[in-house]
Amino acid sequence: MIKHAICFLVFLYALHATHAVDYSVTNNAITTSGGVAFRDKIGADYAKRTLESATQFIWSVFKQSNPADRKNVQKVSLFVDDMDGVAYTSNDQIHLSARYVGSYQGDVKTEISGVLYHEMVHVWQWNGNGGAPGGLIEGIADYVRLKANYAPSHWVKPGQGQKWDQGYDVTARFLDYCDSLKSGFVAQLNKLLRSGYSDQYFVQLLGKPVNQLWTDYKAKYGNIA
Ligand SMILES: [Zn+2]
Repeated sequence: MIKHAICFLVFLYALHATHAVDYSVTNNAITTSGGVAFRDKIGADYAKRTLESATQFIWSVFKQSNPADRKNVQKVSLFVDDMDGVAYTSNDQIHLSARYVGSYQGDVKTEISGVLYHEMVHVWQWNGNGGAPGGLIEGIADYVRLKANYAPSHWVKPGQGQKWDQGYDVTARFLDYCDSLKSGFVAQLNKLLRSGYSDQYFVQLLGKPVNQLWTDYKAKYGNIA
């Protein structure tokens, strides 16, 4: 009897260890055409599996095989809402625009997968205790999307953009350049962002000020606008 009880406890522990993060998907827009498009073209099951795979991928890009290096998040919720825009993330809750899903022209399943990867980065990334530039935060999210092969065709090409912390695709391409100089750069940068932010992190990791790195990057691609 005791033996069985111990076996059951071990089973419960294993169950918990393999399912350390819970995911939920709630379609709040099912009465709208966008909500119906989400149900028919993507589906809650696929969305949930994508949230799970995004988490695994992000931990690997951030080189966080040790759980102590990760943010302590137990549950991530996706809500499909009748709202403008594309998506946003707040308090481990991802809100996806049903209107965007419904009006997207092209492969909506791949597009939304990319959007979910981007938003999931916001759940897991460190933000320098709020001190990191917004453009860097968005750039890291799109860098992970790029590495997952979910970069949309309309993104800027490598070398384009006006400044390193412009954000999104521009900063993602720049971070990809930085990572090419030193493999694992983005993972190390994210690790440093656990405690705060300084432009000096670039000097610390790559030996050059970030503005010099941006100049080098632009020069490599012939200073295209
Ligand atoms: Zn974002």
